Amino acid sequence: MPLLPSTAAAAAAALPRLRLRLPLPPRHCPHPLTPLRCAPHHSSPHPRLLPLAAALPPPPPEELPPSQATGLVAASQANFMRVIVDAAAPGLEHHRGSDLLCVVRALLKKIRRRVLVGDRVLVGAVDWADRRGMIEDVFERRSEVADPPVANVDRLVVLFSLDQPRPEPATLTRFLVEAESTGIPFVLVFNKAELVDEQTITYWRDRLKSWGYDPLFLSVDQQSGFSALEEMLEGQTTVVVGPSGVGKSSLINALRHNQNISEEDPIHKLLEQNSKWFGEQRVGTVSKKSGKGKHTTRHVSLLPVAGGGFLADTPGFNQPSLLKVTKQSLAETFPEIRKMLKANEPSKCLFNDCVHLGEHGCVVKGDWERYPYYLQMLDEIKIRETIQLRTFGTKREGDVRYKTGIMGVKQAEPRLELKKHRRVSRKKINQSILDEIEDDIDDLEDDYWFDAKQHSRR
Ligand code: GDP
Ligand code: ZN
Repeated sequence: MPLLPSTAAAAAAALPRLRLRLPLPPRHCPHPLTPLRCAPHHSSPHPRLLPLAAALPPPPPEELPPSQATGLVAASQANFMRVIVDAAAPGLEHHRGSDLLCVVRALLKKIRRRVLVGDRVLVGAVDWADRRGMIEDVFERRSEVADPPVANVDRLVVLFSLDQPRPEPATLTRFLVEAESTGIPFVLVFNKAELVDEQTITYWRDRLKSWGYDPLFLSVDQQSGFSALEEMLEGQTTVVVGPSGVGKSSLINALRHNQNISEEDPIHKLLEQNSKWFGEQRVGTVSKKSGKGKHTTRHVSLLPVAGGGFLADTPGFNQPSLLKVTKQSLAETFPEIRKMLKANEPSKCLFNDCVHLGEHGCVVKGDWERYPYYLQMLDEIKIRETIQLRTFGTKREGDVRYKTGIMGVKQAEPRLELKKHRRVSRKKINQSILDEIEDDIDDLEDDYWFDAKQHSRR
């Protein structure tokens, strides 16, 4: 029987068949770093969005049967995922560091537990000779980036260039706010250092310092200034973000080719065996236009870098959506405001929900460079929140129509007009996972209604 999202519980109930029991999707957000997808269950403005990853820790290797393994999803392409094995049953340890070509168990899709590159997963039905398997579950996620869709990201590199194009304070602020809003540590890097003089570099260093940042400067062309960055990336999963033209793809390529991976490194084996796979995902050939059409998915690979880390081969948020930022949380994404609030402790703004517009009793003053950007973004977010409330929040009778499903059960669904409206507003939400999730759910529902129709005709 096809499954509606509302029957996810029933789907999950069928799970004890798996060797490792899977919990139901949690009712509360287990991941403070993924606010976008983890709105509380009851008050969610969009009730169809559920938390995505199970709060399940990986099992100890000795509990794995020979047909199972755990590993890291290093790449996705079409319906396949490459999983690098990190643990296998006793006697099969030599498979660590090699990889398996996997499909995702259909049930995971049906209960909307999405598998992302960067996820640690449980693989079952492993055929060690053919190097194939099936992803049966996803382990707890530390963090999640929506664009590109990568889980367990440890660090973002926010990349700008000093010239061609020059840094634009408003754009820079937008990227910084977006990066801050992920909760993932990030480093700000300026590329194309060879195009400017020392004074320009000092100017930007001082200016950024007054904003609360300590940027790195390098030149991909000259291969200079890399060491500090490479040190930072060691052992981490990193995503490079920034506007177009600043050299993101060039940086990714340079870091990829710069790697000095020792022969003892388990990843060395993988690179030898699978150089083709990792070479295939060429930077620049990835479509930057996904989000259009129903089944466009962005293909992402994690490229192994020296020291055990990974670098996403696809750069991220070319256009920061600020979707995770709320009226209230915006202030926290400005180091200047954080500093002022801290300096005033223990006294606070008079009103708990102060958005720092210089009202009576507000401890945030307006005499800092980026205050106008703060105000601009606050306005933008207010407008977005109003639209969101109108689109998802109000449940007027006219917004809803009813369909009769299997056995005459009435199901409410939003009117098509509403959906159209949502699509328009979603255009702004470039390449977010949200689109993909919704499309998947839409498909699921379409199938459901189609089947229900067939059923009632019989
Ligand atoms: P992306 O859009 O951010 O991925 O940027 P690309 O990697 O495509 O680079 C945009 C342009 O900047 C290309 O023409 C690169 O050759 C050039 N570029 C990248 N790094 C440097 C650098 O360090 N110095 C100079 N002068 N040009 C660079
Ligand atoms: Zn205030």
